[in-house]
Amino acid sequence: MPICEIFDWLFPTKCLICGNEVLPNSILCSNCFSKITFVDYPFCDICGKILENSYNSTYENFLCQTCQTHPRHFDQARTLFVYDGFSKNIVMKIKKQADNFVANSCTQMLFSKYKGIFAQSDFIVPVPSHWSRILKRGYNPATIIAVEFSKISGLPIRKILKRSRKTDYQKGKNISERLENVKDAFCCTTDLSNKNIILIDDVMTTGATLNECAKVLKNCNCLKIFCFTIGSTAGYKPT
Ligand SMILES: [Zn+2]
Ligand SMILES: [Zn+2]
Repeated sequence: MPICEIFDWLFPTKCLICGNEVLPNSILCSNCFSKITFVDYPFCDICGKILENSYNSTYENFLCQTCQTHPRHFDQARTLFVYDGFSKNIVMKIKKQADNFVANSCTQMLFSKYKGIFAQSDFIVPVPSHWSRILKRGYNPATIIAVEFSKISGLPIRKILKRSRKTDYQKGKNISERLENVKDAFCCTTDLSNKNIILIDDVMTTGATLNECAKVLKNCNCLKIFCFTIGSTAGYKPT
């Protein structure tokens, strides 16, 4: 690899979406940065989703339609940006290329916003991939994100959740199908009495996977579960 390419890899100077020059230690140029919808109030108090049809709403502490109709086993979920056709490019850098620099930039932003949640938590648990997917890909994207959170927060990672069976990809399924697809797909045998846990995945869509993992952890007596993802699709306001 030529020395300039090694330097580019170590210290990226190009926007990862459009390829334009960026400031040192940035992953996006100002133009692409402005196209990302960062999640800010108002969002659902439980799942943390920005509500598609109420961007200008002023009320707080409300729940989205899904959290009202499908009880969540996790206490709170928080994310950095709305997962859409544009921001997908950032998530794919972590998912397809195991890009630690991108994972670090995203987790830094989340950590600075939610330091209080990390301060009251005991350790970090990544949502596990099935061993056959890790064999194929070489890594678990949730672990890459968890490692960066661990470095920043000082909290240890504990891989206490296991996949008890392989599941279909969740893509293209509705919430009921997704819930069914991940039902009983995870297990944990560790006693988690008095523990607060940070649960990590790359993206939240319906939240079915995080919810199933949280159910298993709560069955092991875990106190509170805080989920963090890099992106999350928009939610819906109750009608
Ligand atoms: Zn750009
Ligand atoms: Zn919600």
